Amino acid sequence: MASTSGEGFGSKVVGILALQGGFEAHAKMVRSLGARAREVRVPADLEGLHALIIPGGESTVMTLGIEREGLAEPLRSLVRAGTPVLGTCAGMIMLDREHLGLLDVSTRRNAFGRQIRSFEADVDLAGLRGGPMHAVFIRAPWVAEPGAGVEILGRVEDHPVAVRQGNMLAVSFHPELAADPRLHELLLQMNGSDERVTRAG
Ligand code: GLN
Repeated sequence: MASTSGEGFGSKVVGILALQGGFEAHAKMVRSLGARAREVRVPADLEGLHALIIPGGESTVMTLGIEREGLAEPLRSLVRAGTPVLGTCAGMIMLDREHLGLLDVSTRRNAFGRQIRSFEADVDLAGLRGGPMHAVFIRAPWVAEPGAGVEILGRVEDHPVAVRQGNMLAVSFHPELAADPRLHELLLQMNGSDERVTRAG
């Protein structure tokens, strides 16, 4: 797999919301790309981040944690300031209209019918070179009612499972669980103040 990890990610600090859910595997992948990973539990942990990941987990529990720690407003400010963010599975739900209200989509929880536990699929993602991504879905949501500014990057059974809106990337699946760092690389390459980069591909 093509890797661009030699391009100087060492100066980048990626925050990973670590209240609950699958944050450790994200941290591992970030470190494998040469960047620094910082677990985020309180607002002060957001200072100086170059990018943020909201992992999968359980969206109801994660919402309670965000409220308990007073993280909702600081998270909104960080993302509105242009910091690149990747939300995966429950992290995608956190970004939607009904939760943090940052991504102009609704999400449908546990959307893939009887596939209660998990399934895997190869998903073509627009703008990602190197072929389809092998994606692990665990009680996954899908995107419903995407707003006009939301780009659909990939679908499963015709339902959007990967979207982008400016500095926000959100996927229904768990990219940290497959040995494919391309979405994490894309996050590290995104730069909120540089549309040439965020629009690439
Ligand atoms: N089903 C979970 C929820 O609705 C999300 C699952 C996941 O993040 N793997 O919160």
